[in-house]
Amino acid sequence: MRYLSTRGHADRKRFCEILLEGLAPDGGLYLPEHYPQVDDATLTRWRQVYREQGYAELAFEVLSLYIDDIPAADLRALCAKTYTAEVFGTPEIVPLRALEDGLWLEALSNGPTLAFKDMAMQLLGNLFEYELARRGEELNILGATSGDTGSAAEHAMRGKKGVRVFMTSPHGRMSPFQQAQMFSLQDANIHNIAIEGVFDDCQDIVKAVSNDLAFKRRYKIGTVNSINWARLLAQVVYYFAGYIQATASNGQKVSFTVPSGNFGNVCAGHVARMMGLPIHQLVVATNENDVLDEFFRTGVYRVRGSADTFETSSPSMDISKASNFERFIFDLLGRDAARTQALFGEALAREGRFDLSRDPHFPLAANRYGFASGKSTHADRLRTIRDTWARFGQMIDTHTADGVKVAREHLVHGVPMIVLETALPIKFAQTIVEALGREPDRPARFQGIEALPKRVQIMSADAEQVKAYIAAQCSI
Ligand SMILES: *Cc1c(COP(=O)(O)O)cnc(C)c1O
Repeated sequence: MRYLSTRGHADRKRFCEILLEGLAPDGGLYLPEHYPQVDDATLTRWRQVYREQGYAELAFEVLSLYIDDIPAADLRALCAKTYTAEVFGTPEIVPLRALEDGLWLEALSNGPTLAFKDMAMQLLGNLFEYELARRGEELNILGATSGDTGSAAEHAMRGKKGVRVFMTSPHGRMSPFQQAQMFSLQDANIHNIAIEGVFDDCQDIVKAVSNDLAFKRRYKIGTVNSINWARLLAQVVYYFAGYIQATASNGQKVSFTVPSGNFGNVCAGHVARMMGLPIHQLVVATNENDVLDEFFRTGVYRVRGSADTFETSSPSMDISKASNFERFIFDLLGRDAARTQALFGEALAREGRFDLSRDPHFPLAANRYGFASGKSTHADRLRTIRDTWARFGQMIDTHTADGVKVAREHLVHGVPMIVLETALPIKFAQTIVEALGREPDRPARFQGIEALPKRVQIMSADAEQVKAYIAAQCSI
């Protein structure tokens, strides 16, 4: 399998070449040259694989269609090491549980940091360690986080050989639980940097450091953000696992509702559907930051400025633009790289928007690719959390609540609807208390983490200071 850029660059690369890269050289995103097709016999075999050999083996089956530069035995071992019941809490790894008739939750948040990002990041940690050892190289991961991504990355990379993590976060702005998840790590290769500023300041620092090409090359600076193809690919697996659990035969279809921010999670669903997984609809659920809902309703994609980006009670979906969206638009336009370049490289940069409402491709988003969307607000979130608790005794987190609210608007009789559970309620306790008047349950391994000693450097919003810190750590 070779990978191409959505903006038409002539290079064709293999999986391990793009594994450690971010954007393609022309600013586009990587996608496979084609989507491997999963026929009826293969899907039937995968049912058996998942049920009898487990999630790790299913992951190996899916991944090996896209990765041909890691020997099969090694790839299988990496999957087996990643997806264990010890790390993810159950032998099913992503069990389904029922709400009302026809509506299911797929649990993706029982990994080390209690958000779905562990599903991909844990694999990425093992892939990075493997590939860096093979090349005899090191990598310094620099990131910016407002919570879930940073802790998932740190827990995936802790103790890994050849990798250091430098994670910036806005000082004092994450929840005490999220701070504790990151700052209590004592591993020598994990570096927390609390920036006196907001999340945008952290992102600006990451950009400034990455734009210093000499520094970037000298210190082997890399990222693990959601545009990384390996992360997206890892997420494709749980669409198959969800489908297999919800159906008895391949003639049945299911729909998924996906709480969305950067369009990474639901884009993995799009890939699964393109491979032939019988998905009826992919429903994009947004919060008040409804860039994506607006697009799927109107055909207008209008990115927001930081002043128009709301701080909500589902903060991991508070985005101003959706960094993976370009992948879907490329497919929607019949893989026309020149037009993708004109929209994302030019129109968005110039006007902050593009309009496909009159384009003959736009109706295909719904008709051919199965997309639908909806929006949920703080009041909807509270109501959904209360209602789900009262009727089913199930406590759901704020992002998952956005998903459940929107999913209920898209139920079709006879088609199971699977909502992806993207985090556990303990991560967003304040809103749970607001909704239910009680604290969420806390898994035993997280008792008292807020009181653990913290390992964090506080710095002003100054890229030079961060560079100096990285340089000093690399010379130890
Ligand atoms: C990251 C995240 C999302 C958004 O996922 P995308 O892949 O960016 O669309 C939703 N919910 C939670 C809890 C998250 O951490």
